[in-house]
This record gives sequence, structure tokens and C-alpha cells, in this order.
Amino acid sequence: MKNEQSQITDIFGINVFNDAVMRQRLPKNIYKQFAAIRQGQGDFTIRIADVIANAMKDWALEKGATHFCHWFQPMTGLTAEKHDSFISPTPDGKTIMEFSGKLLVQGEPDASSFPSGGLRATFEARGYTAWDCTSPVFVKGKTLYIPCAFCSYTGEALDKKTPLLRSMEAVSKQAVRVLKALGQANVQSVTSTLGPEQEYFLIDRGFFEKRLDLVLTGRTLFGAPSPRGQEMDDHYFGTLHERIAAYMNDVNTELWKLGVSATTQHNEVSPAQYELAPVFTTVNVATDHNQLTMETLEKVALRHHFVCLLNEKPFVGVNGSGKHNNWSMVTDTGVNLLDPGSTPHENMVFLVFLCAVIRAVDKYAKLLRASVANTGNEHRLGANEAPPAIVSVFLGDQLNDILEQLAAGGAKSSQKGGELKLGISTLPPLPKDCTDRNRTSPFAFTGNRFEFRMVGSTQSCSGPSFVINTIVADVLSEIAGALEKARDVRKETHKLLKKIAKDHHRVVFNGDNYADAWVVEAEKRGLPNIRSTVESLETITEKEHVTLFKKHKVLTKQELYARTEILLEGYSGSINIEALTMLNIAKRQIMPACIEYSGRLASSMGIVADAGVVCNSMQTILEKVCGLIDELGAGIEALETTVDKAQSISKPNMQARAYRDTVIPAMATVRQAADALEMLVDADLWPLPSYAEMLFLR
Ligand code: ADP
Ligand code: MG
Repeated sequence: MKNEQSQITDIFGINVFNDAVMRQRLPKNIYKQFAAIRQGQGDFTIRIADVIANAMKDWALEKGATHFCHWFQPMTGLTAEKHDSFISPTPDGKTIMEFSGKLLVQGEPDASSFPSGGLRATFEARGYTAWDCTSPVFVKGKTLYIPCAFCSYTGEALDKKTPLLRSMEAVSKQAVRVLKALGQANVQSVTSTLGPEQEYFLIDRGFFEKRLDLVLTGRTLFGAPSPRGQEMDDHYFGTLHERIAAYMNDVNTELWKLGVSATTQHNEVSPAQYELAPVFTTVNVATDHNQLTMETLEKVALRHHFVCLLNEKPFVGVNGSGKHNNWSMVTDTGVNLLDPGSTPHENMVFLVFLCAVIRAVDKYAKLLRASVANTGNEHRLGANEAPPAIVSVFLGDQLNDILEQLAAGGAKSSQKGGELKLGISTLPPLPKDCTDRNRTSPFAFTGNRFEFRMVGSTQSCSGPSFVINTIVADVLSEIAGALEKARDVRKETHKLLKKIAKDHHRVVFNGDNYADAWVVEAEKRGLPNIRSTVESLETITEKEHVTLFKKHKVLTKQELYARTEILLEGYSGSINIEALTMLNIAKRQIMPACIEYSGRLASSMGIVADAGVVCNSMQTILEKVCGLIDELGAGIEALETTVDKAQSISKPNMQARAYRDTVIPAMATVRQAADALEMLVDADLWPLPSYAEMLFLR
């Protein structure tokens, strides 16, 4: 039996056509040219593509593949794939396995069934997929997967990957300019990096299948609170249950084979909630890997008779799930630009990049907020266990002190962390970080990167990442502009840092983001607090944002408007499904159970009365149940009316507003009556598994 360590190294990346495989299988000159192309240098010719495609096919066939697919990420936020076989007929009636460069680099899926936000008329069905050679191809099952960008016939981006790739170029270009101005001419490119921590719930498949709300919407639309919730704080980092540990092992193995470096796993705060984190990599590959991770978490769960819930808020009353996007920038010379070093006050490059991020976050807070606005997150953001909808930056004591020094004229010292002595002679002294953690901050500096915590657990990492890249690129371009013109770069840098430290100190908040006092304080500071998804999505097309994306060639005005429309329609569409599902369950499962119970109660009362006993409690319960049945009935009718009305509105933002202002409150009324009934009706008659069962039974 092999130990686990050698197992990992044996299987890691075994199904990936990675650099090592290419080096081994491609002719030397082709490998070299291709390596340069991936760095953005040199032309991609069809001859190179042909050679690579052929090597890829041979490798994939050895791995048992029979098909290939262009794997892309349309605006649904999910991935899409269309499989074609390698089989090609020969004139003599036989077949050979073939794969050309043309098939590798370009595909032509019918684009008409993917959301386009009006970018593509239905009669112009044609769309193109283009190979993204910066993300490695891999074999999964019997198919060779080729990561691709997806665009319309006229070249507009119809996917999540295209703007991300464009934003990576933007941030690289501006960062290189700044570095050059600061005297670092040897840097050719800068890559943005991402390590997304993924939260999720696991519940037993048996319970899942009995709940149409979970099956159709991914979250519970009914459910009285469990007598025990998360108040004991005993789940976070708790010992892993055997069944869960077996599941996680299986997930890791699957991911390692695909080259996804899943490393950290632990229980999360809520019962039945867990987290998985990979080792960070370039933003683009990390985003692809996160899609594979979500898919694998769901698929492997079924094998273990679990269901993995990725929804942002599957259960009311316990924590929701997010994705913590750890983001930074690294040079091609290997320097992490957000690494402060031991004396950050002297690290000019670090201070410039740190200040650039701070200014970007403050200047474009509304865009960052909008990049995480979706239906699920609306229930999560602003609730007391998640970052509030106010965007602020956590720096910690050391950097906060440096920022204050900068604002006052110049940074002269860095606070030290020191040592932590535990007072026990057998325990070693621990070096203490000079920066504590702040788990409540939506945008926290965590040692050598920023952690954007508002991202929802179902979301593609692309949106939040391309927004961060673009807004940082924008501020870097301002800084580069000023430094390139300056006669004395050192002086100019100090001036810029001072100004940023002064102007944007308001966005820095090191306290408890969940406290009510922060909401008041943030308002005083003039920071936006956009609570609803609709309001937030409406800010995307503000003039300043259109200019920003256009300037850095990330999205055209049309693309930005189209995206906003898709997001608004997605919001309305998902609430519509939730409302219809709720009506279905309320009318066909809950109401009949309540009627049955009230009937039984009434006949029992009759029997008891016949026996000559008056029972007041039975009378009280029956009255309560019947009162709530009336409330439920009225709620159902009201919900039906509001849904009908909302469905008939055609303007996307007006429709989304109707869902938010009328349908969501009507749903809350139905739920309130039903949840109250759940606490009164015979548990054996109740048609849905309870919160307590789902969250605590393994
Ligand atoms: P915590 O839960 O304490 O925040 P984890 O270890 O769960 O930390 O996750 C931290 C994540 O940050 C990992 O995915 C890690 O690879 C990632 N990370 C570390 N350094 C960087 C960096 N320079 N750029 C992007 N992500 C990073
Ligand atoms: Mg973590």
C-alpha cells in the first residue's frame, strides 16, 4: 500500500496536457514557439496548431478519450461543452482518429441558446469558441476538454472568460508601466493570481430528494429553525465526520488528477458546511479550476449519497456560503507585488501597489459590489453572518499605521509583530504576525494578498476578478501617467502616495464590519451601502464605468449593457422559479397536510367530547392551526397575483424591481405561515424533512 504522499505525486495532473507533457511530446522548436505564444509573444500559425493538435490527440487517446470538446463559460455562470468524436471516415470506408489544428483552435457552437442580452439576434445563431492556450487542456471521462473563450459572430464577448483575459492584459500593461517608471525595467509582464476558497453544504441525498425546493432552486423555501443551530460555535474546524472525510478524499483525488491543487479543507461555521481551498495560480486557470471544483463537489457527493449545495443561502438562520477570492499580482521575475517584506515602509514598490488597490476599491466600490450581486447573495450580504453590502478595506495595524504616516508626509517606520510567549516552558515562542486577521471585512489584506470575501458561492470567479483587475489597472495607469512625466520620480511617488493615503483613508476600516455602528459610520464617511441586487446591477452602466471598461478594452459599451441585462433577467428568472416552486409545495404538500391534521384533530376532539371530557388545549391547537391555514391560503393567493403581474413586465430592470418589491415580500408571508404550521402539525404528517434532520443527521 502506497502512502498518501506518493499517491498524490503519482496522480497529480495525470489527466492534464501540461507543460511537462508538452515538453516531452512536442518537437523542440514547436514547444519553444508555443511557450512564447502563451507569454503573448509571437504569432500562432495553423502549422503550430496542427502539430500541437496531433500530439494532444495521441496523448488523449492513450488516456482513453474518444471525443473532444470546446469547454466554455457562457453568461449563465456555468460551463458549456459540446462533444465531437475524433473519428474521421476515410475514402475506403474505414475510420481513423483525427484532430486538426483548426478543430483545436476554433469551434462553432450554435450561440442562440445562450444568453446574449440582445447582442445577437436569434437569426444570427452563429457563435465562435476560441482556444485559450493559457489554460491547459485535460481529459475527463472519455473527452478531451479544451478551455475556450466564446464570442458572437460579430466578435462580442458572450462569456465570462473573454473579459477576464482582457483584464489580465490590462493590469499587466499598466503594472509594467508603473514598474518601469520606478526603475524596474526588467519586468516584462505581470500576472494576476487567484486562490478561491469555496464554501458548500453537504446534506444526505435522501432528504434532498424529498424537497422540491432544494431540487429546483438549490435552497430551502420553507423550514422552521432547528432547535439547535450554530450558536454553540462547535462546527468550525471541528473533527471531520468519517463519511465527510471519505467524501473529501474522493473529491481531492478527482481534482488532483485534473491538476487542481486542492489543499485545505475544513468544517465551516454552520452545521453541515465545509470549505475547500486550492493553492493559488493565475486568475484565469484558477477560475477554470474553480468551475471544475464546483462540478466535482457536486458529482462526487452523489456517489457518497450526499448532495452538495453550492447556493449562497440554502438555509435561513445559519451562515450562508461564499467564495473568498484571494487576489494578488506577481511579476514574471517572480515578485509578489503585494508582499510587504519585513520593512514595508521602505518598500516603495509595495506601497505604490497597495495604495493603487486602496484607491481602486474606494473609487469603484459600486462596481465591486455589483460584481457579487446575484439572487443568492442578496440573502447573504448584509445578513449578520456575512460581509455587509458596504465595501471597505481591512489593512491591519501595521499597514494602517504606515498609511497614516504617508498621509502625514512620509513613512518612517514599520511596527513589528514580536513574539508570542505562551508561558509554558515546553512550548516554543511563536513569531507573531504584525497583522491580525479580520474575518468580518469584505476586502481584507491578509499578509501578501487581498481577500475579497463578498463573492457568492455559486458565482464564477471571473466577474469579481475582472472587475478587480480592471479597476486596479485604471489606477495604475493614472500613477504611471504621473510618474512617466515626473522629473523627480521619488518626489512624485511620495506626493502620489500622500494624496491617496489622505483621499482614501475613508475606505479603510479595521473594526467589526457586522456591527450596526459601522453602517452609521460608513454613511458618515460617504461610502455606498447598496443592499439590493437590482439597485446594485443598475449601477454597472453608469457613465464612469462604461468609460473605464472601454478605456482598458475589457468590455465595450454594448457588451456592458448586454451583461447588465442578462444579470437582471437572471435575477428575475430565478426568483420566478423560486416563487412557482413555493406555490407548488404550499398548495400540493403543505396545505393538504395541514388540512388532514386539522381534520384528525377535530375528530379526536369529537371522540374526547363524547367521552364526556372537555379539552381546552385541543381546542386552542385547532384554532391556531385553522387560523394559520387561512393565513397560508391568503398568502398563496397574494403570491400568485404578484407573480402574474411581475411576469407580464417586459423591461428587465422594472421587472426585477417588481420581483424584489412585491414577489419577495409575498413569499416571506407564505413562508411565515407555513413555518409556524410546521411547529404545530404532527411531524409524521409534515411533508418536508426538517432543518434539524438536514443539518445534523449524517
Ligand atoms: P484562510 O482561510 O486563512 O484565509 P486558506 O489557506 O484557507 O486561508 O486560503 C488562502 C488562499 O489564498 C489559498 O487558496 C492560497 O493559495 C491563496 N493565496 C496565497 N497567496 C496568494 C497570492 N499571492 N495570490 C493569490 N492567492 C493567494
Ligand atoms: Mg480558509
